[in-house]
Amino acid sequence: MGSPLERMADFDLTEEQRAVRAAVREFAEKEILPHVEEHERAARYPSELVRKLVPLGYMAPMIPEEYGGSYVDAMSYGLICEELARVDWVVASVVSVTNSLAAKSILGFGSPAQKERWLPPMARGECLASACLTETGGGTDLGNMQTVAKRCDGGWRLTGTKVFISHADHAGIFFVVASVDRSRKHKGVTAFLVDPKTTEGITIGEFPMRTLQRDNLAEVHFEDAFVPDEALLGEPGGGFPILGGALDMGRFSVAMRCVGQAQRCLDLAVPYAMEREAFGQKIGEFQMIQLKIAEMVSRLERARAVCYRLGRMLDAGVGRASLESSLAKLTASEAATQNALDAVQIHGGYGLSAEYEVGRLVLEAKALEFGEGTSELHRKLIAEFALGVRKQ
Ligand SMILES: Cc1cc2nc3c(=O)[nH]c(=O)nc-3n(C[C@H](O)[C@H](O)[C@H](O)COP(=O)(O)OP(=O)(O)OC[C@H]3O[C@@H](n4cnc5c(N)ncnc54)[C@H](O)[C@@H]3O)c2cc1C
Repeated sequence: MGSPLERMADFDLTEEQRAVRAAVREFAEKEILPHVEEHERAARYPSELVRKLVPLGYMAPMIPEEYGGSYVDAMSYGLICEELARVDWVVASVVSVTNSLAAKSILGFGSPAQKERWLPPMARGECLASACLTETGGGTDLGNMQTVAKRCDGGWRLTGTKVFISHADHAGIFFVVASVDRSRKHKGVTAFLVDPKTTEGITIGEFPMRTLQRDNLAEVHFEDAFVPDEALLGEPGGGFPILGGALDMGRFSVAMRCVGQAQRCLDLAVPYAMEREAFGQKIGEFQMIQLKIAEMVSRLERARAVCYRLGRMLDAGVGRASLESSLAKLTASEAATQNALDAVQIHGGYGLSAEYEVGRLVLEAKALEFGEGTSELHRKLIAEFALGVRKQ
């Protein structure tokens, strides 16, 4: 065990979990990190980096071995997400969307045929997943979904537009939610597993962002797109419980990604503070810079503590962990954003220069405050739990 900070991060992990963290970190620093800036500048999706995850078992840590995955405990899965996100938002996002949202939902609610069809290619890295949830009218109020699924002979016809869709151009499966009856609000929301390559009536358009150029976010239009009965996941109107279960694990994986980003900001700020000089001394010797470093460590470790506890709860087999996943997602995403801002401040103007990574991390960390529920939504959920008006 190395420094006191490493000791704290590793303290109650098992030997296997420590080994997972060390192996992923070594791989990520060697194989992924050197390419990230170049990919961002060229707006190039990191397909070849994603392929490298497969033989190491990092692509499918939530998919059981019988389907070709490398199934590990939730805590180890979280550590994989943390360490991948420490170097690259997008590669970590591929793993978390494919495992937490798509694979977890299929494992929990899919038919044997759906599991056989989708999980093995996902485990082989041949079928990345996109989650098509958010719409132009809003992503928070999913019960008010505009995209509709109309019953037809042999299946369903989907019509509507989804926005902010990560990995859409590269995905082999779309996890789509649409309403079968808008008057029933969230009770009409239904989940579908859609093959974007063979389904007619799907078009993928650009959705330009100020950040994450290498993720190529997209908007996805469904125009009377026919999907067969086999595409229905669970029951008509049963989409919200599926989303709920998936989002517990999804929020855990996003929260762990935030821990990775918060850690990266600290890792970049500390050596800079000990190297850069002003007024004849290291800037790290100024108390105001030390204050920022102390706050960064404190935020990071608070986030890590809440997230690791959630990982252990998921491993203990709790049915639902909505309160804890909201707490983890809220704490960790805000820690990542604040750590990124502090890291930039410590770098001075260079923090926003193309030469340094920290400037890029500000918007990338901020983006994690939106996916899988905004900070406002999580505060609302936490308060409702505390007030007793929400039970799960
Ligand atoms: C980089 C990135 C990647 C993404 N990838 C995906 C993806 O792959 N798939 C996908 O489906 N979506 C994706 N999203 C979308 C994301 O999930 C949404 O941005 C998020 O759900 C919020 O929806 P919205 O942006 O429409 O905001 P809105 O829902 O319009 O909310 C706007 C503001 O109002 C607040 N608000 C809303 N309701 C309440 C309330 N009841 N109380 C208090 N405040 C409230 C929100 O917190 C927010 O601050 C991605 C977003 C980003 C930034």
